[in-house]
Amino acid sequence: MDLGIRGQVALVTAGSRGLGRAVALELAREGARVALAGRDPKVAEQSAKEIAAETGSEVVGWRCDVSRGKEVRELVNRVADRFQRVDLLVCNAGGPPGGTFDTFDDDAWQKAFETNLLSVVRLVRATLPHMKDGGRILTIASSSVKQPIPGLILSNTMRAGVAGLMKTLSGELGPRGILVNTLCPGRIATDRLRELDLQKAEREGLSEEFIQRQSLQGIPLGRYGKPEEFARTAVFLLSRANTYVTGTSLMVDGGMVQAL
Ligand code: NAD
Repeated sequence: MDLGIRGQVALVTAGSRGLGRAVALELAREGARVALAGRDPKVAEQSAKEIAAETGSEVVGWRCDVSRGKEVRELVNRVADRFQRVDLLVCNAGGPPGGTFDTFDDDAWQKAFETNLLSVVRLVRATLPHMKDGGRILTIASSSVKQPIPGLILSNTMRAGVAGLMKTLSGELGPRGILVNTLCPGRIATDRLRELDLQKAEREGLSEEFIQRQSLQGIPLGRYGKPEEFARTAVFLLSRANTYVTGTSLMVDGGMVQAL
């Protein structure tokens, strides 16, 4: 199957580590020109260099904290100046902290809103004028879109908002040839997952291994996913081979979520 990604310009935020980096790498492997962004410009630049060396594609790594509107606008302008267009947008950010309703004050809610929901609004708004020949927009959310996760109230709430936003955008942008989807990791082995497992182990006074074994029982495929497995799904949704999937929230979860 020809994915039709060669030469396309992709912007991936929070792209220096974890799932964002895996998606940037897989896009570069398919011949996309990639701008990845992260909060630390040195780390972003280093990841870009590594991906460029591994794939031979043009990859740049720049600074952007997606919770800051000005930085988002500056990033998108910089990408447009460099490449004259943006074809593929991947909206990603770090997950909000774990906790229950009693844990968080207004500031924590505001921060989660700006990082995980308003960032997507801002990225899409800034990028649309540069999507000259249709395009693909993908947001990395969470399996909590279908099944909220106890102890992750901020994430559960913001992800639901993202899914609603993306579904609505798929309707508004479909006539312009822009396909919009939400990709929902279940348990994919990254730093974030390790951190969540460790936090849970500490909270419950159990070992990390025990918590992992408990998690695996709920996953029909019996293991955590690999970042590259997640990234390959992302690349299909972002590709020109995807001509008819839009407005979807797709789980990449080894069968974990118990929802139809
Ligand atoms: P990760 O923690 O390994 O990587 C997240 C990256 O985002 C880091 O590089 C971090 O520096 C960056 N980041 C954090 N805040 C940022 C900001 N304001 N602006 C720009 N960059 C920022 O996490 P991951 O596992 O790669 O997860 C990516 C997203 O998917 C997160 O939102 C996470 O909550 C969500 N998610 C992941 C899983 C999983 O199994 N890995 C499951 C459900 C949801």
